[in-house]
Amino acid sequence: MVRFQQKRTVFVETYGCQMNEYDTELVRAILTKADYAFTQDEAQADIIMLNTCAIREHAHRKVYGRVHKILHDRAGVPVKIGILGCMATNLRTELFEDRGLKIDFIAGPDSYKRLPQLISESYGEGKPFDLTLSEFETYSDVYPKREGGVNAWIAVMRGCNNFCTFCVVPYTRGRERSRSVGNIVEEAQRLAADGFKQITLLGQNVNSYRHEEHDFADLMAAVARVKGIERIRFTSPHPKDFPDKFLEVMAAHDNICKQIHLPLQAGSDRILELMNRTYTQEEFLRLVDNIRAKVPGIALSTDVIVGFCTETDEEFDQTLKVMREVEFDSAFMFKYSQRKGTIASRKMEDDVPEAIKTERIVALNELQRDIMEKLNARHVGQTMSVMIEKKGTRKSDDNFLGRADNNKLVTISDGDFQAGDIIPVMITGASPHQLRGVPVY
Ligand code: SF4
Repeated sequence: MVRFQQKRTVFVETYGCQMNEYDTELVRAILTKADYAFTQDEAQADIIMLNTCAIREHAHRKVYGRVHKILHDRAGVPVKIGILGCMATNLRTELFEDRGLKIDFIAGPDSYKRLPQLISESYGEGKPFDLTLSEFETYSDVYPKREGGVNAWIAVMRGCNNFCTFCVVPYTRGRERSRSVGNIVEEAQRLAADGFKQITLLGQNVNSYRHEEHDFADLMAAVARVKGIERIRFTSPHPKDFPDKFLEVMAAHDNICKQIHLPLQAGSDRILELMNRTYTQEEFLRLVDNIRAKVPGIALSTDVIVGFCTETDEEFDQTLKVMREVEFDSAFMFKYSQRKGTIASRKMEDDVPEAIKTERIVALNELQRDIMEKLNARHVGQTMSVMIEKKGTRKSDDNFLGRADNNKLVTISDGDFQAGDIIPVMITGASPHQLRGVPVY
């Protein structure tokens, strides 16, 4: 009976995207308020929760392996295991059926306020779960419990209405809903008061943000006026929502970082249509030109999928053509993997052989590596404003690692800085994935 009085300890592990990172911070705030304690030491935890991702098969396999390891390491010691995040709403109660997994409770991304109840129910009979996809929940009344750092995430909207045929997000995170501008500005002000200098506005489809008469341009302008916030980033946008009004706000505010993540996904119009991306190659290229005209010096990154259902060699060449023409500063490149529940998994055959997918991803990586080498070499000799993120790099404990306004990683040798310091750095060297430099005094 005495044990019941002690605070139960929770260990959370987060997989996947920044939205999951933010959700874990929400979970910490909700459970701390419900009198749970958090531990970084898994072996000490009464409850272990995995905040999961469902975007690729690999993500699922990782979680299965993790649960088996926990069960092995904790054999004979009582522990409750909970599955949170997109895998919960993607696989649902199937997770209970896999006896080998021994999952005790499941909560989807819209059900975290019910976690205290679900956890206490898991100490009773049955297997509690909540997989509601809410049309309203934005957690606007929860101030996330963050663990320091220079950057803070703020989820300004949740869900996605786009239904790209390869994507599970609309099924795991529900329909789009946005928080009010006032509520988000208040969170940004609290973050500035807590010493955060950079914030990143998050949404599955962030630039579709809409609250009453306010759109994403209004929100960005309002957040840019928050004192103490020196850098503002946002992710992940969709190419269909980049009106000039928004680009003008970006150009007009120095503290809005000149960097846009612009997911292309594929170069061929037929494949873009099969993916339900709602734009053509030509429209995408025109948007890139317009962004570069309206926001000089902007850095662009992208997402690309190779080997989507029925993609031919000629159609893959269209992807290479766009990558050569745009020359993205960085790119996340993936082989198509079918996801349970998506439109593509129901209506299309995953017919591109794995060997072809591998061939294409290798070719794409090689091209992108050459492009990044060329683009980064152009920064040598420039002085860039860099925000220090941490001391110590793989190469040396004395170096500092930071990010330039355009999101490029910079290693700084020499100096004595704190995380969050923004300093001028003379770039002295470059590689495809990083820049090197010395502080300018
Ligand atoms: S925009 Fe498309 S890829 Fe992005 S989260 Fe929505 S459905 Fe998925």
